[in-house]
Parts: sequence; structure tokens; C-alpha cells
Amino acid sequence: MKLDIQTLLESMDGIALIIDRELRIQCVGQRNWQSFWEENGGGPVEAPLSGRPITDSFTVGPVRDTFRKLLLELFEHKRALLHVDYRCDAPDEMRWMRLCVTPIVTSGESKVQYLLYQSILLDSQPRARLGLFDLPATGLQRPGSLRICCVCAKVAASPADAAGPQRWIDADEYYARGGQEPTMLSHGFCEQCASKLLADDRAATQWAATQSQST
Ligand SMILES: [Zn+2]
Repeated sequence: MKLDIQTLLESMDGIALIIDRELRIQCVGQRNWQSFWEENGGGPVEAPLSGRPITDSFTVGPVRDTFRKLLLELFEHKRALLHVDYRCDAPDEMRWMRLCVTPIVTSGESKVQYLLYQSILLDSQPRARLGLFDLPATGLQRPGSLRICCVCAKVAASPADAAGPQRWIDADEYYARGGQEPTMLSHGFCEQCASKLLADDRAATQWAATQSQST
């Protein structure tokens, strides 16, 4: 059987991409990408996705740095796969997404040359509009910016006691508690999501060690 990669990508669910060792997009499942683009405001696509670094789609700063590290570990046989369930909300809709990135192992190649990158919508639910999900995001702390976890979409509440631990709450609770409308979001990780990514890192390292012992 001969199967064309583009044909395969077109038949896959969600946004499906092939990433090379430079973390550049090589192939795109066009059908779902076009639908995604139109559903999120549409307009003419500025430039083809092919050739762009996938890291451009992550907010600059700790989020981009973390995902770059995780993706590179897949090429270095340090992890089997990258699997992150995350929220990607619109102002009037909650969206549960899954990112799954796996190495493409080709026969006769000792090095992983490509990754399959797939981002799938698992579920969505309408809700009363929350303005903060319409704001621009940065990876840096700026005056008036509100910290938000890029995985679970919780926001950082000001602690009642300035010396107390940071609390992460749902965005609707933030407004219910009289939170000020921010001017910008600052993407990062809450402690719980950061430690889950780290735990996955440890599991992946152990898996890679087992694999290298058995070869
Ligand atoms: Zn989180």
C-alpha cells in the first residue's frame, strides 16, 4: 500500500501537522486548518503555515521555552510522546483541547526526523461572555496584566495576605470576586500544571532510560 502523507493528514481529526527537527512545520492538514481559521475570525491567511516554526504558536517566554524543550526531547529519545489536555477558551465558549505529539519512526533511520503534531477539540460548552478571553496575551509580566495558566486557564488571584501562597481560580470566580478587568493576559503555568508537566518529564526520562538499556 502506498499512502501519501498529505492524504493521511487530511483524514485526521483536528489540526494535524508534520514538524521537522528544526521545529518547522513541513506539512499541514489543510481542510481542518482552513475551518479552524474561519471559525476563529477568518480573513485572508497571511502566509502559508509550511516553513514556520511551530514554536511561534506558543506565547513568547516560559510557555514557548517549555514547549520547545518538550518537543526537542521527542527527537532526542528522551520521551515517548507529549500529551497535554488544555483549555483554549473563547470569551463565550469553554473549550477542552488535547495536544498530542508523537515521533514518526521510519524504518532504517536511527534518528527521529519528524513529529506528528495533533491538536484536537475534545468538547466545548457555551457560557456567559468573559471579556478577559478576548485580550492580547504576552509571556511577560506587565502592569495591568493578569497571569493565566496556558493549560487549565485558571487565573492568579491576589492573595489576601501578600506573603501568602498564590491562589489560582477559574475566570468566572475572578469576576465574581470583583476582579478588575485586566488590559492584557500574561501566559504561564500554575503550580499544579507545572508539576504535572514535570511529573510527565520524569516518567518520560524513566521510559527513555528503559529503552536505551534494552537496545
Ligand atoms: Zn494550570
